Amino acid sequence: MNNLYDPDNIFAKILRSEIPCNKILENEFALAFSDINPQAPIHILVIPKNPYIDFYDFTKNASNKQHESFWKLVNDVIEHYKVEKEGFRIITNSGSNGNQDVPHFHVHLLGGENLGRMIG
Ligand code: 5GP
Repeated sequence: MNNLYDPDNIFAKILRSEIPCNKILENEFALAFSDINPQAPIHILVIPKNPYIDFYDFTKNASNKQHESFWKLVNDVIEHYKVEKEGFRIITNSGSNGNQDVPHFHVHLLGGENLGRMIG
């Protein structure tokens, strides 16, 4: 585990089933669940099951199998909600400038309506 990873972050607790989540899909290396404070009709969080702090940590250190499984699950969520054609947005916040609140890598998958311009 990365020395800087906080094993008590809220998503680590979800992965250990210490707190509940509304699970949508999972595979061996990734979990998808509903955001507790949705910003759009569809707002799903996809997280790796292994302890990576943020996008950079994940992309630099995850194994090929972990990468493949993670992005496969993102695709499965897209298909689950049938938003391939109408579109969606994927966001990942990182660090203080990115205003990342939970220090376990995750992507937000948002959709179900026109999401407006990217920032602002
Ligand atoms: P970040 O700002 O780190 O990119 O986003 C963290 C996200 O986690 C926020 O959208 C927030 O609503 C969500 N969140 C925080 N705590 C919980 C929780 O306990 N359960 C779920 N399902 N989502 C959470």
